[in-house]
Amino acid sequence: MSAVVVAEALTRRFDPHLSIGDRIAAAFGARVETRPVRAVTDVSFAIRKGETLGLVGESGCGKSTLGRMVAGILPPSGGVVSVEGQPVMRGRHKTTTRIQTVFQDPFASLNPRRRIGETISEGPVAHGLVARAGALTFAAEWLSRVGLDPAVAMRFPHQFSGGQRQRVAIARALAMQPDILVCDEPVASLDVSIQAQILNLFLELREALGLTCLFISHDLSVVRHVSHRVAIMYLGRIVEIGSASRVYGAPRHPYTQALLDSVPRLRIDDVAVTFRPIAGELPSPLAPPAGCAFHPRCPRATDLCRRERPELRHGADGTAVACHHAEEGTIP
Ligand code: SF4
Repeated sequence: MSAVVVAEALTRRFDPHLSIGDRIAAAFGARVETRPVRAVTDVSFAIRKGETLGLVGESGCGKSTLGRMVAGILPPSGGVVSVEGQPVMRGRHKTTTRIQTVFQDPFASLNPRRRIGETISEGPVAHGLVARAGALTFAAEWLSRVGLDPAVAMRFPHQFSGGQRQRVAIARALAMQPDILVCDEPVASLDVSIQAQILNLFLELREALGLTCLFISHDLSVVRHVSHRVAIMYLGRIVEIGSASRVYGAPRHPYTQALLDSVPRLRIDDVAVTFRPIAGELPSPLAPPAGCAFHPRCPRATDLCRRERPELRHGADGTAVACHHAEEGTIP
């Protein structure tokens, strides 16, 4: 199956924000930290038509920055994202409506002063996908499609629960008739029972509309539930990528193994038996460790790891791992 979305060598740096005091101090020759933060470095992947690629990593690893570049919201510092060969951004501007985004916090992403019927139809009207005269009917159809009463089109966001607002956010994204959806932690702010409802809605609409998706989450079980393939991200780079069954069933990167070990598994008597939090903390992207960025936390680290950064090496089974010792089996 051919790739629809291709990300090539994506990199994103952020310049530090200097206060007036810092700038004055720098002008007088004082040492002020001016190094850019490398949030994402040299990330490449492809997503095939109809496929969902899950992107997992700890908070602060760069996955949302990567998602925003794929969605055409944030220009990369280097590299390119393309949809069937066409770049999704030209300069700072998005070139396509084929990619839409669903964010974590629907309350923050919905205009509190706009009725939700208008929120859903605004983009499609502006892009000529629906006539202004038919906007309310159009919005009502989408509300119904995401499981809400069409009569609520005249309400404001604060009149909805968190789960209902996320349904509105999904309707707004899909009303633009995208064939690619970037979901950035779409259920992280919801109660567990509501999460399941929203995930089921996502799966149902994905199948019905044939969507290609990038699904970002820190929650391994959520990603496993919805993804065909999974990419594991650590400190701005992908360290392992492969089919969901292979990455979850036989992880090869020590970070992936540590992430999976950190998920509580329940015995019949409901006692967690394999919960093992990952040692240490994610290093600052301002001062990434030399060699393999995971080495300060890795139980298998050797001198080679401390010296040389491992490249992402692709195997015959379509998976790729960035670890000098990936072939040496799992940690006992
Ligand atoms: Fe651990 Fe070395 Fe592999 Fe990095 S390269 S994950 S430090 S074994």
